[in-house]
Amino acid sequence: MQSAGPFMSISLFTLIEASLPEDRTRLVLEAPDRTHGPREWSAERLLTGAARFASLFTSLGLVKGDRVALQVEKSPEALAVYLACLRGGFVFLPMNTAYRLDEVDYLVGNAEPALVICDPSMEEGISEIARRRATPHVMTLDADARGSLMEALSKLRNIVPPAQLAAHDLAAILYTSGTTGKPKGAMLSHGNLASNGIALRDSWRFTEDDVLLHALPIFHAHGLFVACHCALLAGARMIWLGKFDRDLVLKHLPRATSFMGVPTFYTRLLAGDDFNAALVRHMRLFTSGSAPLLAETFDEFRDRTGHAILERYGMTETGMNTSNPYDGERRAGTVGFPLPGTEVRVMSDEGKQLAAGEVGGLQVRGPNVFAGYWRMPEKSAEEFEEGGWFKTGDVAMIDADGYVHLVGRAKDLIISGGFNVYPKEIEELVDEMPEVLESAIVGVPHLDFGEAGVAVVVLRPGKALDEAELISRVKAKLANYKVPKRAFFIESLPRNTMGKVQKNLLRDEYRDACKGN
Ligand code: AMP
Repeated sequence: MQSAGPFMSISLFTLIEASLPEDRTRLVLEAPDRTHGPREWSAERLLTGAARFASLFTSLGLVKGDRVALQVEKSPEALAVYLACLRGGFVFLPMNTAYRLDEVDYLVGNAEPALVICDPSMEEGISEIARRRATPHVMTLDADARGSLMEALSKLRNIVPPAQLAAHDLAAILYTSGTTGKPKGAMLSHGNLASNGIALRDSWRFTEDDVLLHALPIFHAHGLFVACHCALLAGARMIWLGKFDRDLVLKHLPRATSFMGVPTFYTRLLAGDDFNAALVRHMRLFTSGSAPLLAETFDEFRDRTGHAILERYGMTETGMNTSNPYDGERRAGTVGFPLPGTEVRVMSDEGKQLAAGEVGGLQVRGPNVFAGYWRMPEKSAEEFEEGGWFKTGDVAMIDADGYVHLVGRAKDLIISGGFNVYPKEIEELVDEMPEVLESAIVGVPHLDFGEAGVAVVVLRPGKALDEAELISRVKAKLANYKVPKRAFFIESLPRNTMGKVQKNLLRDEYRDACKGN
């Protein structure tokens, strides 16, 4: 295992290669629920897979810095493609599998990948986008290792050596939506990912003896970076589920030592008595993040199982910033302390650093903080304060014991099932409908997803539109998790004297709209 010291001078791939078990025959990945293709991956198979994919991309003409965009189901091959990008210096660009063609079109237009790898079911639509956008290559890969990517791989003859890379070289671009409505590509370097991976591995004590039950998607920082890096940088094994499926999680937990989830996973696990102390007595660690874990969920989990869920906090742009302690008190409703190497501070609107107990904007600084947004230098500059402090957009308080409490969000963000939904993107779509004068999307409590979006809409005089039609039109354009669960039609939106829509009033008015779902 590598220590945190030398990572700045080498690539994340080199670090992972050095961290995998010395006995290369050891299993590092199992995909027990797949129907075709290899289910068990040794360290050797994974490294060979990465070398072969990287060599294939080189043979297609890709060079260091070229983007490789992926919209595929979770599979061991997809992980090997990620490692191939790290090895070859290509920039990995994962796309949410729920994205519709319009969303993919924007990302392909913005990132200009040299290669797009997609599920065979998306090939026709994505090839059309690629023709229009002059994307050189489109290949397919399904969850069971079929598709044109694998066919091309079988013809590969030469293996090329790993690229010479440094910590500042770009490893990945992950798109996050913003208050502007248009997604922005967060540029993450090898150094960002390596430093954060090592901090998490060490803070959470991952070792070769661990087995991480991995049920998160791998197009998001949580499943791709937090989970995979903890395991790979420790040489641990992952049991790789295609998605969160309660029955499959219960089936495989007895063989795992650790599990990572969004709060929705935990409420779903607690929903039946078959999730109990006997099932998880042997477990070492449960972590939660991406959305607030309610204190009730934390308490119920502890009462039922004896385990205190370890809650951590981070974001696409920064990786993980804070974590509750491995040893010591894990405090419900808090996100713990800054990780080693990361600094946090709470600032007033006037730019003054606030004392313990005071509420303000949370800023972070450290080797984990990203290099800026892809091709948006002004937007990137706006998000940083002097001295390299990144403005997270989260509102926080640090208590007298040093625990960070997230108390709100400055940004207009809804988190549904752990995924971020930016109202602006949906409002723009609804406002374009010919019947609509204006709209507001607000987040309300939802039993399963934590929060869900509700559309509050003002129609043009004499026009008619019903709830089901509005929802189905949004569904045709946007990923399902962004689609409002309900729509309400009112005479006018409440506004303050500055003309700003008072979303707090709408949130109160519709707070029970998604109860019982
Ligand atoms: P993403 O970029 O999708 O990872 O989303 C990042 C945002 O998720 C953060 O800025 C927070 O608003 C929110 N978030 C992440 N972890 C937590 C947590 N443990 N509790 C509350 N909110 C969280």
